[in-house]
Amino acid sequence: MKLKFCSLYSGSSGNCQYIKTKNATIIIDAGLSGKRIQQEIVNIGEDPKKIDAIFITHEHIDHIQGAGIMSRRLNIPIYANEKTWEAMNPCIGDIKSHNIKVLDDCTQIGDLTIKSFDISHDAVHPVGYNIFYENKKLSLVTDTGCFNGTITNSIIDSDLLLVESNHDEDLVIIGPYPWSLKRRVLGEFGHMSNEAAGRLISKVVKRGTEIVLLGHLSKENNFPELAYKTVESILLEEFIDVNPGVCLDLTYRDRSSKVYEI
Ligand SMILES: [Zn+2]
Ligand SMILES: [Zn+2]
Repeated sequence: MKLKFCSLYSGSSGNCQYIKTKNATIIIDAGLSGKRIQQEIVNIGEDPKKIDAIFITHEHIDHIQGAGIMSRRLNIPIYANEKTWEAMNPCIGDIKSHNIKVLDDCTQIGDLTIKSFDISHDAVHPVGYNIFYENKKLSLVTDTGCFNGTITNSIIDSDLLLVESNHDEDLVIIGPYPWSLKRRVLGEFGHMSNEAAGRLISKVVKRGTEIVLLGHLSKENNFPELAYKTVESILLEEFIDVNPGVCLDLTYRDRSSKVYEI
């Protein structure tokens, strides 16, 4: 059986990514109500009761909102690094001690191997994830103000990559946000622009990545078509063909993406 991936939700109103293999089912982040996450899992024809683990990228509410309730309701362990546990503890309610799991360098859930790597965001210890299954690799990088060597090296050789394409810089500058928030979004510890995403994607696609999904699009400072076109034009400038060629697709804040199998 192949690895199934679906972005259930992606954006500042909530994030949850679904991964299933023959004998493991995990979600990365649970940033909406437990009810909405469970409903979307049912909508894609899967069973929320089969979730083996929830992995958290960082403590912002759009990544943890439903984690506590799902852990309590369905008896699911939550994995996060030590600093993230400290930061999210007051927000997610009581978690049974056997469901509190501190991330190791390398965590095994059934036939999945999960590794985290550091990203650049204004949280206590934010991470992206690599998920390995047989000879396949899936990488998730959202909520990062920039990409550096660590991030690039971590996601190279992925078969499928979900990467943040948060905003158009000009739209942020002319947009409605107060200046302090504009500075945060545009800064090194904020969110990644469409253009930066395009540059990062061109690096990984040249090394063989065939499926790229754009994630965590801003509602106020982006449009799906703009994110797609900006990234596509950067890839074309680099002589990389898109659809057909690399499969470039979007994820959504209010519904699931296509289901991908790798
Ligand atoms: Zn976020
Ligand atoms: Zn965040």
